[in-house]
Amino acid sequence: MKKKFKFKKSVKVIFFLLILLVICYFSYNYLLKDEKINNDVSNNEQESDELTNKLSSLGFSSSDIVVLKENLSDNELNLIDEYNENIVKFVSNSYFEIDNLERYIVYMEENDYSVDEVITYVNVGIDKPFYTDIKTISDPNNLLVLCNKFNALPSDYEPDDLTEVGSSGIYMRKEAAENMYQMVLAAQSDGLKINLVSGYRSYDYQVDLYARHVRERGKAEADRVSARAGHSEHQTGLAMDLSNDWSLEKYFEDTELFKWLSENDYKYGFILRYPKDKEYITGYDYEPWHYRYVGVEVATVIHNENITYEEYVMKYLSN
Ligand SMILES: [Zn+2]
Repeated sequence: MKKKFKFKKSVKVIFFLLILLVICYFSYNYLLKDEKINNDVSNNEQESDELTNKLSSLGFSSSDIVVLKENLSDNELNLIDEYNENIVKFVSNSYFEIDNLERYIVYMEENDYSVDEVITYVNVGIDKPFYTDIKTISDPNNLLVLCNKFNALPSDYEPDDLTEVGSSGIYMRKEAAENMYQMVLAAQSDGLKINLVSGYRSYDYQVDLYARHVRERGKAEADRVSARAGHSEHQTGLAMDLSNDWSLEKYFEDTELFKWLSENDYKYGFILRYPKDKEYITGYDYEPWHYRYVGVEVATVIHNENITYEEYVMKYLSN
C-alpha cells in the first residue's frame, strides 16, 4: 500500500518536472527570437546610417539622400561611388537602371538631351557606336523580335512558317503575310495599289546585298542604307518593302498611298520601322517604304505614342 502511494507520487513529480522543462524551453526560445529581431533592427539601422554617411561624404545633400533612398535599394545605393548633380534626377525616372548609371552621366555631359531622353537612349543602347556590343538574338521566332545594329539574328535562322503574300511570289511569316494581304485588299478597296517589292530575305542574300552596297557606295554609306547580314529585319520574315510603283525612293512619302499607310498600317499590325529624323535611334536612314509587322496591339501603341520600335521595346518589353 505504501509502495503504491510512493510510485504515484514520483509519477506526479516527473510529470511536473516535464511540464517545467517544456515551459523553460519555449520561454528561452521566445526570448532568443526577440533578441534576434532587436539585433536585426539595429543592424539595419546601423547599415542605413553608414549609407547616409557615405552618400553625404560623397557630396549629396540630405534632401538628395531622401530622394536616393526613396528610389533605390540599399544594394543599389552601395553602387554609387561618386557625386554627380544629375544622379538624383536620373533615379526618379521609372526606367532608371543602376547598371547604366555611368553611361547616363557620360551621355548627359556629352549631349544636349533631357534626363528622360538620356535614360531612353542609353537603355536603347545608342550611346554606343552602332555595330558594337552586338548580342545574338536568342528567340528569333518571337513576333516581337528586335533586330537592329546591336541585336543580330543567328546566321542559320530561317522562319519555318514562311507564307506567300497572296500570289506575289513574296514571302513573310504566316501571321505577317495574312495581315499584309488584308492590308493590300483594304488599300485596293480605297482605290490604291500596294506593290510588294521585298519581303523575307535570307542571311546569304543579305551578305551579297550588303557587299554590293559597300562596292558601290563605300562602307559608311552602305551602313546607313543597308544592313549587315544578320542585322536585316527582312531575315525575320516580318518586314516588307512596299511601293506605289516598283521603286524604293524617298518621294514615296509624298504619295497618296503613303498617306493611307500612315493612317491605316497599325490596324493591320504594321509600323513604319525607320521614320524620318529618327536615324540616331534606329540606325537607318529614313525609309518610307519599310514596314514591320508587330501585331495590332503593339502597332496601335507605337502609332498613338509616335515612337520608334527601339523606344517601344525599352519602355514596354525590357526588364
Ligand atoms: Zn526594307
